[in-house]
Amino acid sequence: MKSYDVIVVGGGPGGYTAALYAARSGLSVAVLEKLSAGGQMATTSTIENFPGFPDGVDGFELGERMAEQAQKYGAETIYGEVTEVELAGTPKIIRSSEGEFAGRTVILATGAYPRELGLPGEQELRGRGVAYCATCDGMMFRGKTVVVNGGGNTAVEDALYLSRLCAKVYLVHRRDQLRASPVYRKRLDEQGVEILWNSRVTALRKDTRLTGVELEDVQTGARRELACDGIFVAVGRVPDTGLFAGQVELDSAGYLVADESCRTSLPGVFAVGDVRTKAVRQVVTAAADGANAAYFAEAYLLNKQ
Ligand code: NAP
Repeated sequence: MKSYDVIVVGGGPGGYTAALYAARSGLSVAVLEKLSAGGQMATTSTIENFPGFPDGVDGFELGERMAEQAQKYGAETIYGEVTEVELAGTPKIIRSSEGEFAGRTVILATGAYPRELGLPGEQELRGRGVAYCATCDGMMFRGKTVVVNGGGNTAVEDALYLSRLCAKVYLVHRRDQLRASPVYRKRLDEQGVEILWNSRVTALRKDTRLTGVELEDVQTGARRELACDGIFVAVGRVPDTGLFAGQVELDSAGYLVADESCRTSLPGVFAVGDVRTKAVRQVVTAAADGANAAYFAEAYLLNKQ
């Protein structure tokens, strides 16, 4: 079994920053990534709030660059899906589609995946009108009418992105105020996004694919139909911690409990990025976690020697 000083599970900005810092410190590092570098960030067309890029930067490109930078200092990337972890012992064992690996420390950087609405037909309409990523699937709705559901940064960014492709974009939000940064409010108006406030999607209409949604006014209870070709669900994210449950402490929402040091309840196991309990989930805070986790992982290894 191949062994490393540090195994990073997940190749988003938190994971690759941890890999960069750990590799630059002379530690042997492997990043296990199931898809492509960048994680959630790779599905963002323009990141406007990562310092150093006044004109914004493509999320996929930034992910690739972060991977390249970590690899330049010796971090290995292993493309494969982690299937099982044993985090309590020494070394820690990571089983994956690419085999088993032993880590003296493990940095968990698995991020989060989109929350579903939980409506009947939602799963079966996935790919046939129901989508969770505007930059991935937006092109399929060129010239069409779409609903974006949610009021956070993801929803407004999706709505703005889709407004450049689609004939009509509705933003359906359950309150009368956005959760998203105020900077977006004016842009939604400028780009012709119609906001339907105080509204919930209560049903999906379909023939062979999505044909519309049923909306409920949360104040009056009145229901109405809205014809559309697609719905982009952007109602928050769920931390990807299913593999770690029962081994390491999670909070009530499923996030890995760790403070700024990124140390979890298990010695030698660290959590970085969106998967960690924290107030601000951003690319820059994920990257900051990566640096902290690498520092404390190194300290852990030195104390163990
Ligand atoms: P979020 O901030 O948690 O927002 C989720 C939105 O969905 C909220 O408006 C919420 O409504 C709504 N919602 C939740 N459950 C719902 C349900 N069952 N039915 C209808 N609406 C529901 O999630 P996010 O937008 O995915 O963002 C996740 C994190 O990433 C945040 O920390 C965000 O700031 C960050 N992010 C940042 C950027 C950026 O800075 N450019 C871009 C994307 C994401 P309420 O408002 O009523 O709760």
